[in-house]
Amino acid sequence: MASTIINLNDPRLASLASALGGVTSASYQDFIKIINASPPYAQQLDSFLGIARLMVSKESLNLPGADGVDVPAAGRTDPISKEILLSIPNLPAESMKSQGYVIAQVLAHELGHAFDPGLEAGNGVIGEARAEINAYKLMSEADINLVRNAQNVSAAGGELFRANKDTSMP
Ligand SMILES: [Zn+2]
Repeated sequence: MASTIINLNDPRLASLASALGGVTSASYQDFIKIINASPPYAQQLDSFLGIARLMVSKESLNLPGADGVDVPAAGRTDPISKEILLSIPNLPAESMKSQGYVIAQVLAHELGHAFDPGLEAGNGVIGEARAEINAYKLMSEADINLVRNAQNVSAAGGELFRANKDTSMP
């Protein structure tokens, strides 16, 4: 079975491309490269884009935190529409990872929510655990393939992420 490839010019990713400065931006190109290095990620993103929209904002996104007070969030998945919203200014600052990598990581987490059958009910900590497991599954495949195929290179120069030389993972 041929694996799914996500194209740079996929119109369903226009919101992300635009928020990052267009399809020629290094962050956007890095993001697409990482997705395509992980066949399960490319497959899951393609399935998601078939059912709901990916929206990206240059504004800060605030969601109620554990104590009910709003806190900045990098992403949100709508429990009904499944639409995912990413907030560029709220992406975590990770010095060992490129921006494209961080976006792929946050989106992999949100995809875990989008495909969680318990999402609508709002299943709290269990839902977060499932989303994190999904992110780990999708990203670890990309990590290993990028390093093994000598593709861990950002379009901006430098690395997509700093890999542990024994595990090929961050
Ligand atoms: Zn979450």
